[in-house]
Amino acid sequence: NQRILLASRPDGKPAPEHFKFDSVPVGEPADGQVLLKVLFLSLDPYMRGRMNAGKSYAKPIEVGDVMEGGTVARVVRSRHPDFAEGDVVLSYSGWQSYAVADGATVRKIDASAAPVSTALGVLGMPGFTAYAGLLTIGQPQRGETVVVAAASGAVGSAVGQIAKIKGARAVGIAGGADKCAFLRDELGFDAVVDHRAPDFAAQLEAACPQGIDVYFENVGGHVWDAVFPLLNDFARVPVCGLIAQYNDTAPRPGPDRLPGVMREILSRSLLIRGFIQREFVDQRPAFEREMAAWIACGQVRYREDIVDGLEAAPQAFIGLLEGRNFGKLIVRVGE
Ligand code: NDP
Repeated sequence: NQRILLASRPDGKPAPEHFKFDSVPVGEPADGQVLLKVLFLSLDPYMRGRMNAGKSYAKPIEVGDVMEGGTVARVVRSRHPDFAEGDVVLSYSGWQSYAVADGATVRKIDASAAPVSTALGVLGMPGFTAYAGLLTIGQPQRGETVVVAAASGAVGSAVGQIAKIKGARAVGIAGGADKCAFLRDELGFDAVVDHRAPDFAAQLEAACPQGIDVYFENVGGHVWDAVFPLLNDFARVPVCGLIAQYNDTAPRPGPDRLPGVMREILSRSLLIRGFIQREFVDQRPAFEREMAAWIACGQVRYREDIVDGLEAAPQAFIGLLEGRNFGKLIVRVGE
């Protein structure tokens, strides 16, 4: 069993030395357990937080433990009545090629419905994050302007397309010409702005002539600074992620802007609401039904960025925090 462990905690950006490869014998399932061969490993921004010691919404990974992560795997031995050899399941097996799991912690995937990797992306946790955060907190109305950051990514691409389905105008923010062209030409965003452009803030303002009614926050940093002045009265801001600051180790220097932000929250009646997707778990069946239908009729399209081999995971993950992925980042671990 090939594994990647957390070797040490990064102070700032993660680097290859924070990860350690090792190899141990493949485990044996006990009663009620299954032995899994991992096919696909999902790489997600939240893993950066798990590498830190500090308490967040979830426990940190201990140094020396296998890096955590969602996976799609095949059952190779089953000692659980609900699973048979060959079943493909969604599991939380982490960065390794085999895993033993309790049957209660894995879930069968219908491999005939869609490519199984989508259970980690558009039909899985990131797609659900987009669906629940946008519809429950953002509540986009017909004709409103919805802006989403990290728009070509797993979450952002679904946010923009769901906003369109609800009759809103979707404005995407992404890094670089290729991602912007993809959003405009392939996903049908109404306008797209490159956050790396020197006049980004001015371009965003021009792309939102009616202001912003919903801002789906994935990034923070300079993107938030450009969005904030454009928020309309009663704008809703689902705060989903702040990837621009995940590698920060201390607050950035600068004036204290909190009083000004609070004043605007008050005077413009802004709703700024953070969330972790699992809070909305009750909506998961509705999401799965609706998203599958949207994909089937072409209203939602998705892009995956698949890298080959478990050994590629650390570099791919480091790149995710710098915008080097283009679409849902997935590692093909086994066949
Ligand atoms: P993506 O597929 O969108 O990949 C991350 C993207 O973030 C990069 O491609 C890059 O896009 C952008 N990015 C990275 N660093 C920066 C930076 N310094 N400044 C601006 N943009 C940057 O990832 P996901 O769709 O998986 O996740 C998107 C966000 O959603 C993350 O913040 C994540 O933490 C959050 N999330 C929250 C959940 C919740 O329950 N609250 C659940 C799942 C995800 P570009 O090149 O366009 O800049």
